[in-house]
Amino acid sequence: MGSVSSLANRSVTRQVRADHGLSAKYSLGQNFLVNEAIVSKIVALAELEGADSVLEIGPGIGTLTMALLQNAKHVTSIERDADLPAVLAETLEPWWDSFTLIQKDALDLQLSDLDGQEAPNKLVANLPYAVAATVVLDYFQRIESLESATVMVQKEVADRMAAEPGTKNYGAYTVKLRLYAQPAGRFPVSPNNFFPPPRVDSAVIRLNRTPVLDEQGKPLDGEVVRAACTMADAAFASRRKTLSNSCKTYFAGRGANGPAVALRLPELFERAGIDPKRRGETLSLAEFVNMGKALLALQQD
Ligand code: SAM
Repeated sequence: MGSVSSLANRSVTRQVRADHGLSAKYSLGQNFLVNEAIVSKIVALAELEGADSVLEIGPGIGTLTMALLQNAKHVTSIERDADLPAVLAETLEPWWDSFTLIQKDALDLQLSDLDGQEAPNKLVANLPYAVAATVVLDYFQRIESLESATVMVQKEVADRMAAEPGTKNYGAYTVKLRLYAQPAGRFPVSPNNFFPPPRVDSAVIRLNRTPVLDEQGKPLDGEVVRAACTMADAAFASRRKTLSNSCKTYFAGRGANGPAVALRLPELFERAGIDPKRRGETLSLAEFVNMGKALLALQQD
């Protein structure tokens, strides 16, 4: 295998940063990859093809980006650190024509920021851990062209993404993410593969967009999926309480219409065919969808 990223080693990374007078910013989760084998494994798990338009969050000095550019048609990277564009202009110079840099916080990305480019179909990133879980769900919800995400996250976040009902890691986040995407591969990454090494274990996880289907086999309406997400937040608002009590507390404090829903919860559970004495962690994705549909029906009555 040829070199996929000449930046993926400790001495080169150290040198590039020294040349630009930079040191790692802990507040931005700057743990750069320094093992080329891990870069190759990320690219392989993402199954990049020559026609792919890739979105990356946090290119850093360009370590993973360089490998993405060699395996895709176009890469758009979003970087918050204002010191890094000058570095990227040097390290990614050979691929500049197929690279777009958006300098902003990934959480503030607007769809209009992607105007004029091919819609991205794959998210591939070594994510800044402070925003990792939020940004993956947010992008699956907002960027409809995204077919998959192959992302480096803290091991515990990967565990939440892949959790099954009835386990301790299964929560509102798991349900909401899984209404959009399903895990499709994963491998562990230890701290010594980064410079500086993070204090936590990491994992690369791939998620494939997988729409939940209705009884006729058609993808559910976005409105139903969003209502199921609301029911996930309600069911896990007080994790140790029953579904009924957790939802009651959640809706009672939720805007002008919430208290009316709180009063009609017995009807909602009845319509969804769910025992209100159960706890959120026992419910399957399909049961959250049924509760989402019941919530919409109740609001439309
Ligand atoms: N991709 C590089 C690599 O693999 O070596 C760097 C990954 S490093 C873990 C995370 C990167 O995300 C850093 O470059 C950091 O500046 C950037 N970053 C941190 N918070 C961000 C945010 N909210 N939006 C965009 N980029 C961010």
